[in-house]
Amino acid sequence: MSFPQRTIGCGDLRPDAAGREVVLNGWAHRVRDLGGLFFVDLRDRSGIVQLFLDPSRFANLQEIRPETCLAVRGRVERRSPETVNPKIPTGEVEVLVDEYQVLGPSKPLPFPLSDEEQMAQVNEELRIKHRYLDLRRPSMLRRLQIRASAVRRIRAYLDARGFLEVETPIITKSTPEGARDYLVPYRLDPGKFYALPQSPQQYKQLLMVAGIEKYYQIAKCFRDESQRSDRQPEFTQLDLEMSFVVQEDVLQLMEDLTRQVVNGLIEEFGLDKRPVGPFARISYDESMRLYGCDKPDLRFGLPIFDVTGALSACSFGVFRSTIDSGGRIRGLRYPGGAHLSRKDVSQLEAFAKTFGAKGLATLSVVPADVPDAVPAGGLAVKGSIAKFFTADELQAVLREAAAEPGDLLCFVADRYGAGNNVLYRLRNEIGDRCGLRDRRELNFCWVLDFPLVEWDEETGRWSATHHPFTSPKAEDLAFLESDPARVRADCYDIVCNGVEWASGSIRIHRPDVQARVFSLLGIDEATQKERFGHMLEAFQYGAPPHGGIAPGIDRLIMFLTDDENIREVIAFPKVGNGYDPLMDAPSPIDAQQWEEIGLRLADPG
Ligand code: ASP
Repeated sequence: MSFPQRTIGCGDLRPDAAGREVVLNGWAHRVRDLGGLFFVDLRDRSGIVQLFLDPSRFANLQEIRPETCLAVRGRVERRSPETVNPKIPTGEVEVLVDEYQVLGPSKPLPFPLSDEEQMAQVNEELRIKHRYLDLRRPSMLRRLQIRASAVRRIRAYLDARGFLEVETPIITKSTPEGARDYLVPYRLDPGKFYALPQSPQQYKQLLMVAGIEKYYQIAKCFRDESQRSDRQPEFTQLDLEMSFVVQEDVLQLMEDLTRQVVNGLIEEFGLDKRPVGPFARISYDESMRLYGCDKPDLRFGLPIFDVTGALSACSFGVFRSTIDSGGRIRGLRYPGGAHLSRKDVSQLEAFAKTFGAKGLATLSVVPADVPDAVPAGGLAVKGSIAKFFTADELQAVLREAAAEPGDLLCFVADRYGAGNNVLYRLRNEIGDRCGLRDRRELNFCWVLDFPLVEWDEETGRWSATHHPFTSPKAEDLAFLESDPARVRADCYDIVCNGVEWASGSIRIHRPDVQARVFSLLGIDEATQKERFGHMLEAFQYGAPPHGGIAPGIDRLIMFLTDDENIREVIAFPKVGNGYDPLMDAPSPIDAQQWEEIGLRLADPG
């Protein structure tokens, strides 16, 4: 097909082009037929410009419908002052069209992609089914551009520091990251399967044994787990690994990389975000104690307070029996919450109950001179439970809580772990209600010193907190068999605004230690050989100390674009149940393919 090829991008036209003849290629973004006047907003990747077509010169303008693909030749004109559109960079000009050619006609669209407000209401599956149209929207293009620039900046940063980008296999053997594997049947030996990698973990460690020293990869990872708004069956990580390093080296590199990449993106795209500052560091234990979780949102304070000691002799039955049975009384301040209505407080309690709270006891903190309030130090409290406490107890509670007049103190009486789960959610909820989770801030922090293993009630076994290749801290190694719960790991997470972004660790590089950890995880010797023999063997040939980390690329883009749905930042995502409505995958295979893989579906029942 011969057609006039563009001489300039639609979005690049400015008043200095006035009088020039140009050729544009693009799509009819919006079409306005005003009887005697016919306007088209023509869009290409560079932007949008207004075209004017004189209906008396063209016989068949109806053929130009939204999303028709066009080539046009015309003259650039300045717009008269009253018709200037200050909302677009080309708003001072328009193109008077002399001739046009339809390069690709368009059917009526499944959704109005030029209208962002209406698009927000469109069923997401329909958008993904027609992703090639959805991605024509400038807002979606921008997401892809931010993503591409992020990856480009990461590569530039790491290449400049001597990292080598290496690709690792996609069809391989299971590597455990705690999820279910996607399996690929092996045609030549029916009954055998490849697994898609949950991460390149083992390969990157083998690359360290291979002397690569500094590796990275923009790696696809595959995990068959239940879908959530921030999860996809396949997602992308920046996977990196370094030899001859200690934990501090990885922390320094990653923090510097993040700040350079993110601050560069904020500037390049004019994102409404504050520059990223130094990362706070918090230990796992402290994070659990103060924020009830290992992914604290540090954009705001409001740490959990603990009044178990202060109330150990109190006469409030619920608190006493919790304390007597080994539980704790912990709580949160809700600034300004003293003014909540009874209904609001019961809503808050209902919220806490959805996360397992048995109830939510509250006290309002008011100035000392408020009538009917129970005085406590220089302040006073109100609430149905106030009468159960002595003045000393109330004073101690206010002190522990660092309470201020106007606060609602919310108490959770439970075992430490169960209480944490409630307090973690409640704190974020209070943060939201008080407007403390500023979306312009990207608050990155390190969570350090995780336990190596956790007791899994379901399986009755120890399971790896991170993954089985994580190194125990040298000083805790002696307790590996005698007191596993006490063993901490050289393991670190990056959390941003309360969302886990990256996990990493210093790895085990000695075969004897690796075998001991496998044994602790209940993997017997035969299984160790069968599943991880290659690692145990590789470590016997001069394995260097090494460590690394893997931050999520999709999540990074979500932080920058304020998307809560991971699908928005992926060109071709799956919907909730892992289905791809565009390609119609997964889909049945034909009889010959069944034959080739040598498998049959089991008879139902
Ligand atoms: N492979 C780990 C993960 O996917 C990251 C790491 O330890 O480097 O979480």
